[in-house]
Amino acid sequence: MLGRTHDLAAITALGVVVLAQPPRTVTLATGIVAVFANLVGGIAPDLDQPTAPFWRNLPVGKYFGRLFGMVNGGHRFLTHSLIGLALFGFSVHWLLVAVHPIMHSVDIDLVWWAFMIGVVSHLIMDSFTREGVPWLLPIPIKFGMPPLKKLRMTTGHFGEKFIVFPLLLIADGILYSSHSDKILDILRRHLT
Ligand SMILES: [Zn+2]
Repeated sequence: MLGRTHDLAAITALGVVVLAQPPRTVTLATGIVAVFANLVGGIAPDLDQPTAPFWRNLPVGKYFGRLFGMVNGGHRFLTHSLIGLALFGFSVHWLLVAVHPIMHSVDIDLVWWAFMIGVVSHLIMDSFTREGVPWLLPIPIKFGMPPLKKLRMTTGHFGEKFIVFPLLLIADGILYSSHSDKILDILRRHLT
């Protein structure tokens, strides 16, 4: 799927989780860093592509991207599996613990969860594409929804651009407008 679809899916998933299970306390700094981490998590599994936006924005990024892709085993391999999810979880937790001393007011647990929600949303969204996702590596089978490949979408084609992306936007619109009281309440009580 395209980066923008993944970002929209990540932020939608984060919204659903936050509204279902509002955090007890969240500072403004935590909220901002968590949303950023969620968006990064939403595209992180595609770091295995030299053309990923993250690598494109670095001066020699495409070479690092190629190297990362080779270490990872190619596109839609390790970073698109449950093992990859666990590796992302450990490495990002380690990174957050390391940077916590310079950002005391940020709740790194909430940031970690926001990141992981982004990664999970990525794997779910990629499961709707023809290529599928090797969720259970090292079992080399790519799973997808629906199970019949022909019924799945092709990245960047009509189904993604004109059905999935608008549907996600509509879902966000319904989600936030129907929970506006709850959102205002969360903002009033928790943004300190
Ligand atoms: Zn992907």
